[in-house]
Amino acid sequence: MTSILDTGINNVKNVQRYMFGRGSISSLDDLIKDQRRNDNEPVIYFIDSFFKGNEILNSLPINDDKVIFVSTENEPTTEYIDSIVDDLNKKLSERPCAVVGMGGGITLDTAKAVSNLLSNGGRASDYQGWDLLSKPGVFKIGIPTLSGTGAEATRTCVMTNKTSGLKLGMNSDYTVFDQIIMDSDLTKSVPKDQYFWSGMDAYIHCIEALAGSYRNAIGDAYSRETINICRSVFTSDDIKSDINREKMMVASYLGGCSIATSYVGVVHPFSAGLSVVLGTHHCVANCIAMRGMEEFYPEAFKEFWSFVDFQGIEIPKDVCKNLIEEDYNSLYNATIIHEKPLTNALGNGFKEILTKEKVIEIFKKM
Ligand code: ZN
Repeated sequence: MTSILDTGINNVKNVQRYMFGRGSISSLDDLIKDQRRNDNEPVIYFIDSFFKGNEILNSLPINDDKVIFVSTENEPTTEYIDSIVDDLNKKLSERPCAVVGMGGGITLDTAKAVSNLLSNGGRASDYQGWDLLSKPGVFKIGIPTLSGTGAEATRTCVMTNKTSGLKLGMNSDYTVFDQIIMDSDLTKSVPKDQYFWSGMDAYIHCIEALAGSYRNAIGDAYSRETINICRSVFTSDDIKSDINREKMMVASYLGGCSIATSYVGVVHPFSAGLSVVLGTHHCVANCIAMRGMEEFYPEAFKEFWSFVDFQGIEIPKDVCKNLIEEDYNSLYNATIIHEKPLTNALGNGFKEILTKEKVIEIFKKM
């Protein structure tokens, strides 16, 4: 009998190439030259709007290329991705030689999704699921400026479909970046709260993966090391020191490699519920969801809240307190839809454990 957890990934694809180290962003120019076959082929840059007007942009090899600043106010929707692709298809006379994403998970995922659609055609929602893309996207380069989500390493690009309420990515080998540049100078300017929430995404991915039933030895090794690094960083006095920012880039990447061959568990489905219904961003939503996770992950629950206390981080509270019944129904639906991670964490009978009453009770703890 095939299990719902069969991924079909027997032959794992990692990021094709990576560069690591402070200042490595200066290599981008050469990497692009390698891809460009003629002068008319543009590069499409997706840059986190945080960097608008920032001097870092002067160091990028942007000539007659297209720059799209990605607002991180909202997480990508399938509609948003479609609108970018429609616009590019109208305006571009040549196929781009590369798509570059520089930013946090939102920007990297946007770059991955657009690259895929430029080659595969169709609408973003056509590819929400597993292995639905039929060809490689435009050559994609990822430059993370925030550590934790692992978007630089994974084979997905998460998008919310407002019509179906589904928060799901294009899970495919073709979604994996062809090249990434991990330059920890780029995470210097991240506010401490954001840095913490994002870093905890890596930690949470791995505690969920290690507690699941769908495991593999390499994924476990990635997860254990990610957790080790997170422990050393988040129990230190200066989580944003040069060395700690470098360590967190490693943790984010390894955590992404782990999750690419395993599944998350209970935290992410609840977090997705918060994102879909209340618009809460992924990393902070995970931290909020941790308020209700004591019974599922008792050890990690304790450790997580000790990091929060030690670092003096604010995690929003009572976000689901005075909602109307319709909202609680939507929260339940947007959580329980994540069958794979919930089966990974709780088994095939997860709906008997996570009854509607139970799910709402957990949300009320947040
Ligand atoms: Zn995550």
